[in-house]
Amino acid sequence: MTPPRKLHIKSYGCQMNVYDAQRMVDTLAGEGFVETGSVDDADLVILNTCHIREKASEKVYSELGRLRAVKEEAARNGRQMSIAVAGCVAQAEGSEIVARAPVVDVVVGPQSYHHLPELLARAAKDGRAIETEFPVRDKFEFLPQPKPDAIRARGISSFVTVQEGCDKFCTFCVVPYTRGAEVSRPAVKIVDDVERLADHGVREITLIGQNVNAYHGEGPDGRTWSLGTLLRRLADVPGIVRLRYSTSHPRDVDETLIQAHRDLAALMPFVHLPVQSGSDRILAAMNRRHTADDYRRVIDRFRAVRQDIAFSSDFIVGFPGETEGDFRATLALVTQIGYAGAYSFKYSPRPGTPAADMQETVPAADMDERLVRLQELIDSQQSAFNKALIGSTVDVLFERAARNPGQIVGRTAYLQPAHVMAPEEIIGQVLPVRIESLARYSLLGELAAVPQCRPASSAQMTDSSVTRMGA
Ligand code: SAM
Ligand code: SF4
Repeated sequence: MTPPRKLHIKSYGCQMNVYDAQRMVDTLAGEGFVETGSVDDADLVILNTCHIREKASEKVYSELGRLRAVKEEAARNGRQMSIAVAGCVAQAEGSEIVARAPVVDVVVGPQSYHHLPELLARAAKDGRAIETEFPVRDKFEFLPQPKPDAIRARGISSFVTVQEGCDKFCTFCVVPYTRGAEVSRPAVKIVDDVERLADHGVREITLIGQNVNAYHGEGPDGRTWSLGTLLRRLADVPGIVRLRYSTSHPRDVDETLIQAHRDLAALMPFVHLPVQSGSDRILAAMNRRHTADDYRRVIDRFRAVRQDIAFSSDFIVGFPGETEGDFRATLALVTQIGYAGAYSFKYSPRPGTPAADMQETVPAADMDERLVRLQELIDSQQSAFNKALIGSTVDVLFERAARNPGQIVGRTAYLQPAHVMAPEEIIGQVLPVRIESLARYSLLGELAAVPQCRPASSAQMTDSSVTRMGA
């Protein structure tokens, strides 16, 4: 029997890439590949890349430099190693990648992962294979389902892609070019995926998409389903105790989504809703198609149906033309909304996007200084949000044994890690935890209820008593 070939996969960037990496592992499992955590003994290394900011794509080339030495060492030891570049850099740069890094054997865009086995075969025969088309057929029709063992090994929380691509064309963003037009998967396929994951121990599902709340998939009733309708259906899947979704666009928040937050106990009261800027002038230049007040109103609609809802966001500082006044409008918005956390980035011009041709660039020193000010404000809000939990009792979905012996770690509704001393049987259960202290971003506490003595795979509880707290 031939020994299994080893696959090492390194993902950069967003959760879509984490999900895609798992799909590639599932596809290659059928070709006799097993995953390895080390590049040194890998027969195939895949870099699953991100093109969203310049730093993210440059990381790929420095990694390829390192991999060249590993590949040469493998060859000296009589072993052949292949290198594939997947993801958005592969899509955006195609054959330029091999011109810059000849060590690469395969370049594969995000819509073609199901072709990996034949691309590897073609590269073995011809020396190289490149595929960056947007095929007419949906790749999800061809990607194999993960095996039960693989599902269990990945833990109790899983991503499921429901839509891909984006039609919004924000002027700074490469996504519409690298991931293509917005496509939603049929609801039945998503329900099937979630049922299968639940059957093998998954308790929490995060629906993902570049613009997830633009979801408009075909429903089993022949109608177009929105994200809210889909969430309502998934809340009925036995075994699923928590639902989340990411990333949303403020313009695509419709009434079905608001009502889903009002009605579904399984839908977590934590929404990532990027705004990018608090200045209407900058929002218009970004082609965000909403104003700061539109955004405030969307937040109010969520808060009207769930007072315990909390928000996170994305911000870009130093977009071309951003003045100190525009930036202060961003600080004012952050102060007014009050976030549980947020990501903030310096504007990075991306080739081919309209903003890359804008002339009024912001000096690097101003960008640096604004980023620090924004991050200080966000950090202080996040820290106040976390501290407010001390002394309260919150529901935690337990995920795995922690590094400290005897400790189990889980997550609150707001994704904060929470540690307790407890037996491993609590993994997969939602249990109330009395929070006693905070260590950096992690909460430490004690179980406030006796765990149920039954295997994690049969545990079925919903979050019942998420502590009320203002965001
Ligand atoms: N679809 C989401 C939305 O509209 O809010 C965002 C998805 S994007 C993959 C993730 C984040 O990267 C964006 O929200 C934005 O803050 C940041 N980003 C995208 N392009 C950027 C650029 N050119 N420079 C800096 N940050 C950027
Ligand atoms: Fe990019 Fe999000 Fe804008 Fe789409 S909505 S173009 S993914 S930032």
